[in-house]
Amino acid sequence: MTRRRVNKAENRAFHKKFQPTSVLARDRHRGEIVSRNKMRCFYSPEFHLDLPKGHPFPMEKFEVSKNMLIESGVLKGEDVLEVRAADAHVLRRVHDADYLSKIYNGHLDLKEQIQLGLPVTPKLYSRSATEVEATRQACYAALQDGVAAVLAGGTHSAFKNHGENYSVFNDIAVAIRDLQVQRPGIKIMVVDTDAHQGDGTNNILHDDPNVFTYSIHVGRNSPSSSDGSMDVETVRYVEGDMYLKQLFTTLAAALDVFSPDLVLWVAGADNHRNDRLGLMRLDLKDFIRRDEVILRAFMRNNIPVAILYGGGYNRQQEYTAKIHRNTVATAVKISKEIPR
Ligand SMILES: [Zn+2]
Repeated sequence: MTRRRVNKAENRAFHKKFQPTSVLARDRHRGEIVSRNKMRCFYSPEFHLDLPKGHPFPMEKFEVSKNMLIESGVLKGEDVLEVRAADAHVLRRVHDADYLSKIYNGHLDLKEQIQLGLPVTPKLYSRSATEVEATRQACYAALQDGVAAVLAGGTHSAFKNHGENYSVFNDIAVAIRDLQVQRPGIKIMVVDTDAHQGDGTNNILHDDPNVFTYSIHVGRNSPSSSDGSMDVETVRYVEGDMYLKQLFTTLAAALDVFSPDLVLWVAGADNHRNDRLGLMRLDLKDFIRRDEVILRAFMRNNIPVAILYGGGYNRQQEYTAKIHRNTVATAVKISKEIPR
């Protein structure tokens, strides 16, 4: 396949859409963000769930990436805030009581367990509810500070009444429903750049005019089974340059038609060329470019962003945590570039 580079003119065209003079920098955003001096990151040791040996989910990535961020000086200890599990009434904003009860009591049948991909243990409920709470708190922190991150999250394949592909509860949808209760009329965009479609998120939120769901994913790996506001399918094994061009063009188009008060970004680390499940061919440089363009586009226009990890199943184990770490580090870097 001929590789096509994203040229400078295309980059300029994308950035031009996000100049602070554009319609995106509406007055109502100004004054909402009270501080850019910090970037709160939400974490809990409870994110960890013991898995059988050989299980493909890299459960260690949460702790490893958090340690990388602190040891490299990107974050200070006080930037990392520990959260507890979300209350059941918060989870009920999205999930059926029967489903919550099934997870709580470990009553999934074999088919449901296979669909979920995680063992049903007593910790599964609290672990997943803790991840939801981290995302919920990160959204409110992003509204105050301009940017915040969950050192986990992005479980976009959870539906109201069942879980799929390691996603037990849909942290994105629960956080959005909670925000809508606390801030009626808030307009929220989900930007999902994980290599798989945000199918659960789309399914839960598809008829809400105040939510725009954007997902870019490999069409023949993760078919658009549940329509969102904009689903962009890449070819299988898409190279970085082509992916980035497709991403920038379509995200700009999404922002032409929807102007959010808050963005929940499911970053995704499974777009890497050595990922077991993603079927894309990005390298580390492509990720950094993706992260820089997305974060600058929103942060420079005073659109708050809550960053969520999403998936990552790299054959080189340390890469998944490293990609997540880099995304958070890029956000810290860009928040320092913005005048206070
Ligand atoms: Zn994925």
